Amino acid sequence: AWARLAGPRSVVLAEPRSFCAGVERAIDIVDLALQRYQHPVYVRRQIVHNAHVVRDLERRGAVFVDELGEVPDGTTVVFSAHGVAPAVRDEAARRDLFVIDATCPLVAKVHAEARRFAARGDTVLLIGHDGHDETEGTLGEVPGRITLVQSPAEAEQVAVADPGKVSFLMQTTLAVDEAADTVDVLRRRFPAVESSATDDICYATTNRQQAVREVAVDADVVIVVGSRNSSNSLRLVEVAQRAGTAAHLVDDATELAPEWLTGARRVGVTAGASAPPHLVDEVVGTLQALGPAEVTERVHTREDITFTLPKGVVG
Ligand code: SF4
Repeated sequence: AWARLAGPRSVVLAEPRSFCAGVERAIDIVDLALQRYQHPVYVRRQIVHNAHVVRDLERRGAVFVDELGEVPDGTTVVFSAHGVAPAVRDEAARRDLFVIDATCPLVAKVHAEARRFAARGDTVLLIGHDGHDETEGTLGEVPGRITLVQSPAEAEQVAVADPGKVSFLMQTTLAVDEAADTVDVLRRRFPAVESSATDDICYATTNRQQAVREVAVDADVVIVVGSRNSSNSLRLVEVAQRAGTAAHLVDDATELAPEWLTGARRVGVTAGASAPPHLVDEVVGTLQALGPAEVTERVHTREDITFTLPKGVVG
């Protein structure tokens, strides 16, 4: 059923793609905790939003839970890369849990901004997606002083106590172009609105979106490796589609559908920040098994960011 082409197919890998520094750090933290501490090591929520990563860590002794209520007193628990609300930290302290915090430093930065803005009396608007682990944590940082804004339409409607005291923050994995539309509305409605000094949408999100756009503009189809609950992976699909190219999200190579590749001479490939590099290699391997394929990389930028590990797994 797989479509064959006359000449070689060209496969173009977007760079950067796949793991970011925050995801690598979070996975390393669970790895080290599994080596150091008695099993099971509990992890609150998916450490990163990737089904393969979670399954692999489960096999090695990690137990993933939704809430701390499922974690026995006195045991070890890791908080995921997406961050937690202070109420969760308080509960862990009350219950004498040994906490290792894998919150990405760039998410922790957004939490700190939320506290700073709220402390000076602002109404804080968080641009983000409802129900995501990260927005849940950030909203929980300053309850009663922060409101979620999901779209430009919601930005038109949102009510604030004092239009002169408003600030906004963003989820780290938003689509850069869409978030800009929401910010435009806020700036028009609240000319005095304040924001973080540096972008809340993180470097990894921004770079992966820019890289996939560059690949998508002259590809026939784009394959994005990532899980369905991964915000930044979904955004990569949308960015490619907005560049006018068909794009599909796959958890791994087994999900590639033959009809996507019919007549596709140039296939772009990328992966969300939570998707492991070996899954990309497998997708490329499957594409090569269909017939001659020339694999190249299109480099938007090379990343060299790393984050230090937290107390509890080092020292
Ligand atoms: Fe941190 Fe950005 Fe990676 Fe999220 S996507 S873990 S904020 S570096």
